Amino acid sequence: MRKKPELLAPAGTMEKLKVALLYGADAAYVAGKSFGLRAFGGNFTRDELKEAVEFAHALRKKIYVTLNIYAHNSDIKQTPQYISYLAEIGVDAVLVSDLGLFTLCRSQAPSLPIHISTQANNTNWLTAQSWRELGASRVVLARELAFHEISDIREHTDVELEMFVHGAMCISYSGRCLLSNFFTHRDANRGMCAHVCRWKFALTEEKSPGEYFPIAEDERGTYIMNSRDLCLLDRIDEIVGLGINSLKIEGRMKSVHYVACVTKIYREAIDACCAGEDFTGRLPIWRKELEKISHRPYTEAFYNGNTDEATQSFETSKNFQSTDFIGLVRGYDAKTRIATIEQRNHVKIGDTIEFFQPTLPSFHQKLTAMTDLEGNAIQAAPHAQQIFQIEVQSPVEPYTILRQNIV
Ligand code: SF4
Repeated sequence: MRKKPELLAPAGTMEKLKVALLYGADAAYVAGKSFGLRAFGGNFTRDELKEAVEFAHALRKKIYVTLNIYAHNSDIKQTPQYISYLAEIGVDAVLVSDLGLFTLCRSQAPSLPIHISTQANNTNWLTAQSWRELGASRVVLARELAFHEISDIREHTDVELEMFVHGAMCISYSGRCLLSNFFTHRDANRGMCAHVCRWKFALTEEKSPGEYFPIAEDERGTYIMNSRDLCLLDRIDEIVGLGINSLKIEGRMKSVHYVACVTKIYREAIDACCAGEDFTGRLPIWRKELEKISHRPYTEAFYNGNTDEATQSFETSKNFQSTDFIGLVRGYDAKTRIATIEQRNHVKIGDTIEFFQPTLPSFHQKLTAMTDLEGNAIQAAPHAQQIFQIEVQSPVEPYTILRQNIV
């Protein structure tokens, strides 16, 4: 049996945290209301951070908190007290990229493990080893590394290594770009990226205001800085074989459906791989699952060496998905087989729904009857987060995702 790496999932909100851990993540990374790199990702109040730690620890899982902004002077004042609070509530590690914040964590909470964020651009073994000597317990590798470089880093250092296996990419070195600052005054390095790289750019001429000349590489136009999404599912065997300690999924701003689906697929892949199973036949099924969530076309990005046009999406910056997220199971009565559902997209009688479950097998069912909470028959649930009930043909778990094929 091969050593199993940790599966680390993103959690932008408490609900996503619960979904991540219930669908198979060993750990989740979250941000407080300040100092994380996803200022619009929901994020956790201090009380919620405490609740998140308690929820994770009850499942014998871990919570890491991001402190990975590049801090300016004005950020420093409130930081010592926040670091002490994180240590006090028992978070399992903080993610840091700024040397000043790193030093502060070491002095303020010496027993709090520190992971060096990918934002610090850890691209070689000397850097990884240097962070270890300074007291870091883990280094998150830069996404801009090829397999042979990762392998070399692994050989030269025994610090824990974490690497991204799935999720959105930056066109520039992982977040260290100024496009967003320049166009929108929102600093990507302080958690406020406006994803400007995905915008559709055009050319204008100084004396012709309002006239936009398309920058076209072909008849569809071009999105010159629109990276595809990383997907290293096909490389799991190789990555586990290297002895990487933690496999990370990007996406604290993505949906509950995204977190559930990506986490479950990588959970199954890692388990199959570490059990020595020949899972080649399951790969197409897993890939098909990853097509169901909202995503850009997939790429292995830098993993095979230098990137080329196959790592960019030139047609559109739109996301694709083959299913719609319809609702979430909030309760289930085993005696009556009645499931209580919270609506997330319009659903009506006659729709065929897939129940995608944290641990139980998925199944499809055609909706023949729906009721409100008073037991009145309804034909549809058109309102956001409307609660309704249905009789299900198989038992369902809390946080089961209901989804429907997009026709
Ligand atoms: S604008 Fe694009 S490349 Fe720059 S930090 Fe944001 S997502 Fe990354």
